[in-house]
Amino acid sequence: MIPEETSLYGLVGYPVSHSLSPLMHNTAFKELGLKREYRLFPLKENELEAFFKDLHDPDCPVAGINVTVPYKEKAIKYLDSLSPFVQKTMAVNTVVIHPKKRTLHGHNTDGPGFLAHLTELKFNPSGKRVAILGAGGACRALISVLCLLPERPHSIRLYDVQKEKASGLLLDLGKRLDVGIVKVVDSIDELNIELADLLVNATPVGMKETDPCLVSGDLLHQNMLVYDLIYNPAETKLLGLAKAKGAQTSSGLGMLFYQGVLAFEHWADADLDEKIKKKMLANLKKGLHK
Ligand code: NAP
Repeated sequence: MIPEETSLYGLVGYPVSHSLSPLMHNTAFKELGLKREYRLFPLKENELEAFFKDLHDPDCPVAGINVTVPYKEKAIKYLDSLSPFVQKTMAVNTVVIHPKKRTLHGHNTDGPGFLAHLTELKFNPSGKRVAILGAGGACRALISVLCLLPERPHSIRLYDVQKEKASGLLLDLGKRLDVGIVKVVDSIDELNIELADLLVNATPVGMKETDPCLVSGDLLHQNMLVYDLIYNPAETKLLGLAKAKGAQTSSGLGMLFYQGVLAFEHWADADLDEKIKKKMLANLKKGLHK
């Protein structure tokens, strides 16, 4: 369980003021009756090294952290050990700090959080045709977790406005895992969305009301799941179009929730009770709609 002598948890990134993570984790601490606090640590890049160095100090009150944009990859060099998944994806979002040794162990719960939500949605990606828009940090976790499945998808087609970014991501992941099922394509048309079982929007396009919908409604169909990693708004234009076509749809709220639950469980070294998880999700939704 969470060590008694330590009290602080938090999120390292920049900017982090919009984050809903404190809401989720402070709910769990409260429900467990633990006097712990989850805070935001907005850090500039030149402050990162000193922050991670301080975490090793026996008097440091921080017991665990989350890491977010833009440091998920940069933080790795400050850690003492990495989970097998982080060793493959080379991005970290959760750090467990050993209470006595003060060593830092990195996990990534974004990919497993996405998979956990797919399971809840009763969507099994094995043997499926997947199309992904956007080759940034979130896509890195998604591709890694899908390629590491014992029964992998049939194929993953990936498009990014910067083709070299998508090719670079694939080249990098390919050094450590089998990305043979992934193909970088030149246009949204080549994503073959009309044949896809799962379409994921892993771009920020759709967050603003003025944003266009990247995909033409003609390509969407009722035999697919359209998953938008965006959770605010809850229904992007893409999800609205997909719903109208009879597709199964989901915002990224479930992934956000599960990555948080899994992070908490790493810190606690125990599973969270279903009742507490429900409360975390309810508060997450409340925070989102404030
Ligand atoms: P990111 O690192 O900025 O990656 C997004 C990628 O999409 C970038 O390579 C970007 O290219 C590309 N892109 C932008 N516009 C595009 C377009 N029109 N067509 C194709 N590609 C385009 O962001 P991220 O961290 O991966 O996050 C992506 C989205 O997922 C964000 O909305 C984020 O909030 C969300 N997210 C949700 C969760 C969750 O738990 N639900 C977790 C992580 C992320 P440029 O760099 O050239 O703009």
